[in-house]
Amino acid sequence: MVGYIYDEIFLLHDTDGHIENKNRVLAIDDVLKDFDLLRLPIYKASKSDLYKIHNRDYVDWVERAYENGYRMILNEDTLLSPKSYEVARYATGSTLSILKAFKEKRINRAFLNIRPPGHHADRKTGQGFCIFNNIALMTRYAQELGYKKVMIIDFDVHHGNGTQDIFYEDDSVFYFSTHERDNYPYFSGKEDEIGEGRGRGYNLNRPYGNFCDDETLLKLYDDLPKWFDFDILLVSAGYDLMKDEIISTAQITFDGLRELVRKILRFSKNRPTAFLLEGGYDLNSLAKSAYITLDELINYEV
Ligand SMILES: [Zn+2]
Repeated sequence: MVGYIYDEIFLLHDTDGHIENKNRVLAIDDVLKDFDLLRLPIYKASKSDLYKIHNRDYVDWVERAYENGYRMILNEDTLLSPKSYEVARYATGSTLSILKAFKEKRINRAFLNIRPPGHHADRKTGQGFCIFNNIALMTRYAQELGYKKVMIIDFDVHHGNGTQDIFYEDDSVFYFSTHERDNYPYFSGKEDEIGEGRGRGYNLNRPYGNFCDDETLLKLYDDLPKWFDFDILLVSAGYDLMKDEIISTAQITFDGLRELVRKILRFSKNRPTAFLLEGGYDLNSLAKSAYITLDELINYEV
C-alpha cells in the first residue's frame, strides 16, 4: 500500500490567477482516483515545529501577515492570502502523518499532493511560491522518529535553494539536486556548492543546460552518492521539468519521467520513500506525471 496526503484545505491558499493555484492539486487528486491508496490524515505543524527550520522572525512575520489579511511576502512571486498561513502549516505538518505510517510499517512508499510547495523557502524567508519548507520539516520530523540519516533528491527544474540552505552544514542530510542552469533562483545551484563545515561533501548539484533531454537528465542520476547510508529517502517532486511545461526549456518525456522514478526507487533499496509535490504548472502534464509516479510507486519492485 502507498500512503497519500491530500485535503481540501490545500485549496484555500488563494493565489488568484497565479500559475501556482488550487487547480494543480485538484487535477492530481482527480487522476489518482484510479489507484487504491492509503489516505492519511492531515496534521498542522505547530509554531515550534516551524522554528526547527525557519527563523522565528520569519514565522512570526507570516503569522502577523495572516492576522492582517491579504499581503505579499517580500518578493513579488509569493502570495499570502488570509488562509495561507494555516494551509502552509497543514502542508508542512502533514509530512509527519506519512512518517508515522512508515514507522508503523503500514506503508513503505508515499506521495504527498500538497501545496504551497516548499523547496525555495530558506531559513530566513519564503520565496518562489513557497511559504514553509515542507521537505525540510519532514527531514527534521524523520530524525526525531529515528530515521537519523536522510537522503533528499530534488528533480524540480529549479534549484531547491531553501533546502540546500537549511542543511548546508549538516552531515546527517544529503541534498542532491538536478535543475536547469540559469533558471530561477539564479544565485544558487552550482556544482561547486558542496556544503560547509560538517556538511562539506553532503550537498551535490547537477545542473543541466537548456533543452535537456531524457538521456542527459537520467545520466546525472549516476552521480547519486551510493556511499551515503541513509535511513529514509525524501524526494522533491517538481514536475516543471516536463516537455509541456513553459516555465523552463527542459524536454523530459513521460517515458523519461517513468525511468527517473524507477531509478530513484532502485536507489532507495526499499528504504521508506516519499515524494512531495513541488512545481508543475501545466495541468494535463502535471496530472499525467503524478499518475506515472503513483503507478511506479505502487507497482515497481526493486
Ligand atoms: Zn520549480
